[in-house]
Order: sequence, then C-alpha cells, then structure tokens
Amino acid sequence: MYQIEVIHGDLTTQAVDAIVNAANTWLQGGGGVDGAIHRAAGPVINQECERYVRKHGPLPAGQVMCTTGGQLPVRGILHAVGPIYPDHAPREADRLLGACYENALLLAEQLGYHSVAFPNISTGVYGYPKDRAAKVVLMKLKALQDRDWHSLQRVILVCYDQENYSLYQKMIA
Ligand code: ADP
Repeated sequence: MYQIEVIHGDLTTQAVDAIVNAANTWLQGGGGVDGAIHRAAGPVINQECERYVRKHGPLPAGQVMCTTGGQLPVRGILHAVGPIYPDHAPREADRLLGACYENALLLAEQLGYHSVAFPNISTGVYGYPKDRAAKVVLMKLKALQDRDWHSLQRVILVCYDQENYSLYQKMIA
C-alpha cells in the first residue's frame, strides 16, 4: 500500500527517491518539465539517455527507463514516454498514459525506492485533455495501490499549473 499525495509545485525541487520525467521517445531534453529536469540535473543525464538510445533505440510511448539523478538530490530519474494525445485513439492513449505510471512504479519498486514524484505526463505540449488524464492517472494509481509493495510508500503527484492542481484536488477528495 502506498499513499497518494497531490501537491502544487515544481518537480525539480522535490525531496524524493525518484522523480519521473515526461520524456520524449528519443530521450532528448525538450521543453516543459523535461527541459526543467535536464537543466537542473546537468549534462550527465543527457549522456546517459543518448547511450540508452544508441543501444536500444527510441523508447516507445508507455515505457520507462532510468538514469541517475545527476546534480539533483534524488536517487534516480525515471524517464517515462507519454503518449502524444492526437496520435492515438483516445482509449489507446489512456492505456499508454496508464502504462507510464504503472511502469514507473514497478521500476521504482524494483530499485527499492520509497517515494516517487510524478508530473502530469502528456498534459502539456502532448495535448492530453487535463481532466481526462487526471481520471486515468487516479484510476490507475488506486487500482495498483493495494498490491504487495515492499519498498514503495509514497506517490506524489506534482501539479505545476493551477488547472491540474484544482482537477486533482477535486477528484481525490
Ligand atoms: P508533455 O510533453 O508530456 O505534455 P510538458 O512538459 O509539456 O510534457 O507538460 C507536462 C506537464 O508538466 C504540464 O502539465 C506542465 O504544467 C507541467 N510542468 C512544466 N514544468 C514543470 C515543472 N518544473 N514541474 C512540474 N511540472 C511541470
């Protein structure tokens, strides 16, 4: 069982074992939260991502890989590739978005992490309707909550924009 927390803030300043990045399939730092994480973590992360892509190819939507935290005070960064909303049928987008959160939690558990902080994946330039994404994410996190987690104790949803924060607060109440 893990706790689900919703906060209004910046992902790059969270004191947690791992933060999740809303990455792109080439794992190249872009704009939004991805750019903020790469800037704060430093160039080492980019090198780790490049090495990964050279070896394994691009990471498909719904999947997650990990790097070190670079200069950030976290044990690791979990890079999850969110779906580009208009590229998929809505139900397929929901499945891929849910997979990002599930795969990140499974990897965190495998790495022995206690706390993981997520951004609102795909709700920026990837165009996901924010209310639809929040429903998918909360449903997924609640469905997985009662599993036999050993290390995982806290899942923190870090909402950067006011609209996401209000939506999550309303839905979690
Ligand atoms: P995507 O390409 O997955 O849509 P974006 O970075 O464009 O990723 O947006 C995803 C979400 O990240 C948006 O809701 C945006 O408000 C949020 N965001 C942007 N910067 C930060 C940050 N520093 N910390 C947490 N969330 C952030």
